[in-house]
Amino acid sequence: MCIFCKIVAGEIPANKVMENEEFLAFHDINPKAPIHILIIPKHHVENFQSTPPELMAKMTPFIQEVAKKLELDKTGYRLIVNNGEDGGQEVMHLHFHMLGGAKLSWPYLAIEEEAKKYM
Ligand code: AMP
Repeated sequence: MCIFCKIVAGEIPANKVMENEEFLAFHDINPKAPIHILIIPKHHVENFQSTPPELMAKMTPFIQEVAKKLELDKTGYRLIVNNGEDGGQEVMHLHFHMLGGAKLSWPYLAIEEEAKKYM
């Protein structure tokens, strides 16, 4: 069972923000912004690339509700999905990172030497 499935099953504790039958939002253990939430489907889906569109149709309003609950709908936020190896995905269970609570920077994200190959 993956680490996020263990959180869903209650085998690992999480600081939950919101949940319904299908989705769960909880605080990231290693926050990269003043507010850093992870939003997951309870049913295991490996990554964004394999996510059925019908699931996203239901997940979108849930994500919007999380933003409202944290009042990030007023100030703004960033959603990030790391997909696969080059995307930096470490936990193989679909998750949206919701980052906010401060004006976020937009750093250059690629490793410089790697990026030069494509310039
Ligand atoms: P990613 O690199 O996109 O796969 O992101 C995985 C995220 O999960 C990282 O930001 C981790 O800090 C976070 N994370 C890993 N284990 C836990 C946990 N037990 N509770 C909360 N967040 C976690």
